[in-house]
Amino acid sequence: MSELKTWPMRYGPIVQRKIYANLFVDIIRQNKCVLCAACVAVCPTNAIVVLNETPRLTGVCIKCGYCYYACPSTTDESFKGFSEELERVEERIFGMKRREVFGVYRKIFVVEAFDDKLATPEESVIRRIMMFGLERNYFDVVGFPGYGEPVTKYMLMPPRGRWEAAASIATKPSELESVRLKPLTPGLTYNSVRGALEELVGGFFHGVDPIRVAVFGPPQHIRSVWRMRFSWAEHRKLSKTIVFAASYFDRPFYSYKDLRSVLAGIGVNIDVVEDWFFHDDGIEFITGGKSIKVSYEDLEGAVYKGFKTIYDPTGEFADISVGRVPGVEGVVIIARSEEGVKLVEEAIEKGVLKAVEFELDVVLDGLRGLYGGG
Ligand code: SF4
Ligand code: SF4
Repeated sequence: MSELKTWPMRYGPIVQRKIYANLFVDIIRQNKCVLCAACVAVCPTNAIVVLNETPRLTGVCIKCGYCYYACPSTTDESFKGFSEELERVEERIFGMKRREVFGVYRKIFVVEAFDDKLATPEESVIRRIMMFGLERNYFDVVGFPGYGEPVTKYMLMPPRGRWEAAASIATKPSELESVRLKPLTPGLTYNSVRGALEELVGGFFHGVDPIRVAVFGPPQHIRSVWRMRFSWAEHRKLSKTIVFAASYFDRPFYSYKDLRSVLAGIGVNIDVVEDWFFHDDGIEFITGGKSIKVSYEDLEGAVYKGFKTIYDPTGEFADISVGRVPGVEGVVIIARSEEGVKLVEEAIEKGVLKAVEFELDVVLDGLRGLYGGG
């Protein structure tokens, strides 16, 4: 991490705050960026834009420091990082410390997946939970890196092709019905939250009516919510807008440009791919009416570099994390917060989700297994 200067003054030292230049040196240039777009979203002058999968300074920087202290990968004098300060962070978020390698949990559920051609089993469940949350007024907006109309999209930069996930928001349950929630490419999650503020309350800094956003994104992105909220440069407006966070169990996201070249190497032109489906052993791409399955090993070279710098197989800082566990029938939901338990329990009670019988020890073992048996 870059060094900070201090200036001795009569009333105490002035400490230089870290700004975009430090973010560039400490994180972006080190390939530690996870493309969550928290830095883009918090910048008061809209000075940061993601170009070619890199957050770049393209406007006037007023040296406020918000970007640096919103980034999930940075550390500073008051925050030594999510792993070093694990107990303190978990106590603040969930009011309890972990007893398991996969993090805090209040309750585990196993539910049936839905027959949904567009979605993986876990995606089909998370979709229903988010739709139910909107319907029951748990939150007003769902923000996510996803694909598909008619969801309103808020983008500082539009996606270059239909394979690049876009920061999106949904305000009605019906808007989530046909979108893909699980990103193949990183998707700038926090642009959606800023977009929700811009579009729904008439401005980022001047909106007065609070809105409640539920954010759904990769495990690495969920950490930004807490970094924004707990950092020295606490970004109240953006972080307090987020009232619920949901994530999924480990699956890498891919660099759009690397995915393009890896697929080209096996004769698949990303521009003419019509559809894709995640499977346990790889991704199926549909092109020219034909199906081509590419294994996760073959796609390894396209995994977004920053993805691997934060090890978080189950979305440890989300209210709920949803995914599958080897040897367990159905979809596992880890509810980490009280709000998460309440939402899932109500969804089961109202028949939105169908709970299935399970042996807790088997699920716990399976979850530990996601961490290499940890
Ligand atoms: S104005 Fe603030 S948030 Fe924007 S780039 Fe500069 S330091 Fe970062
Ligand atoms: S990880 Fe997120 S906040 Fe940090 S530099 Fe990348 S996009 Fe910005």
